[in-house]
Amino acid sequence: MMNIQFADRMNNVHKSFIREILKATVNPEVISFAGGLPNPASFPVEAVQEATQKVLNDDGSSVLQYSTTEGYLPLRQYIAERYLKKKGIIIDPYEILITSGSQQGLDLIGKVLLNKNDDIILEEPGYLGAIQALSIFEPKFHTVPLRDDGVDINSLKEVLNKCNPKLFYAVPNFQNPSGITYTAQNREGVANILKNTDTIFVEDDPYGELRFIGEHVPPMKTYLGDNVILLGSFSKIVAPGMRLGWICAKREIMEKLIIAKQASDLHTNYFSQRIVYQYLVDNDIDNHIKKITELYREQRNCMVSMIEKYFPKEVKSTKPEGGMFLWATLPEGFSALELFDIASKQNVAFVPGDPFYITKKGINTMRLNYTNSTEEKIEEGIKRLSAAINQLIK
Ligand code: PMP
Repeated sequence: MMNIQFADRMNNVHKSFIREILKATVNPEVISFAGGLPNPASFPVEAVQEATQKVLNDDGSSVLQYSTTEGYLPLRQYIAERYLKKKGIIIDPYEILITSGSQQGLDLIGKVLLNKNDDIILEEPGYLGAIQALSIFEPKFHTVPLRDDGVDINSLKEVLNKCNPKLFYAVPNFQNPSGITYTAQNREGVANILKNTDTIFVEDDPYGELRFIGEHVPPMKTYLGDNVILLGSFSKIVAPGMRLGWICAKREIMEKLIIAKQASDLHTNYFSQRIVYQYLVDNDIDNHIKKITELYREQRNCMVSMIEKYFPKEVKSTKPEGGMFLWATLPEGFSALELFDIASKQNVAFVPGDPFYITKKGINTMRLNYTNSTEEKIEEGIKRLSAAINQLIK
């Protein structure tokens, strides 16, 4: 029998725990708050069909051809114009690279910046896809806990006193998994600390446009300028299956990213870039985003009120102002992994907090997704989950 000698770098990279959990939720009896999927009712199927027909009719042979590594220039110009219009930040289209989802952005950033054992900072809890993508490069992870208003500033100072991290990866808007958004004051605090360091702030913002309550907060790029690499995505505002995201980075970094991108896959699916661009030109994206946020607001309101009605009072939970996730915390000492086993028997699923923490185990937190269940399912699921919680803690 052949002995396969895998690369060392794979030793510490694990299969996504969430994907494993999702396998357990294919049973139609199970009400699942475990997924992280946008609501498919929001996908603009007809408009994408029309855009596809149009690009094929108008420019068929070209849209099926190879294209440039950087991505379709009019799409990059569109993204730059939208940043200016919506966030007031100036980004040169030549400092935008179209990627295969923002997930690829994480891989490319790792490739161009990280050597084995380099220090990097992550939020705790942190986005699992980033933990997985960056683990491939075998960095030394330092974590800073999240509070209700954003990063724990003292912990960030402590990390920076110990080492000189190459990057700080964060999701300041409606974070996955916690749903937390950094306040403007917290952003300013983080920026003031990072300002005079060599640490690049990687601002991952796939949910920023999905605010359904309150006012938008300025991006970290407003405070830190070129010291930010900003990641964006069409996954949550158009459709994730198109696999379109982007990286904004200053030229020096962009040059390297383009080389890494070329080596990875030559360029992002050009057909899909052309379809989405056509879709954006022919449709009112703000109106579309409004429909998504109205839908998610209803679903979020329903989950929040069902939690208030059914959950034992010892369980704390967030009231997100946007995005797709709500974060609940069991009383100290109880494990959400244990709860998961009990809840599975009652046909309700969620994601236990454990995999989102690099440094801790036996965590008492859990992620609940509200964007994929009807109000009836949310009520029934929260009832079942409450019964499971009572079984665990009482
Ligand atoms: N970053 C975060 C924080 C996410 O939640 C996701 C999607 N789960 C991604 C990046 C990846 O999104 P995509 O590759 O579809 O753009």
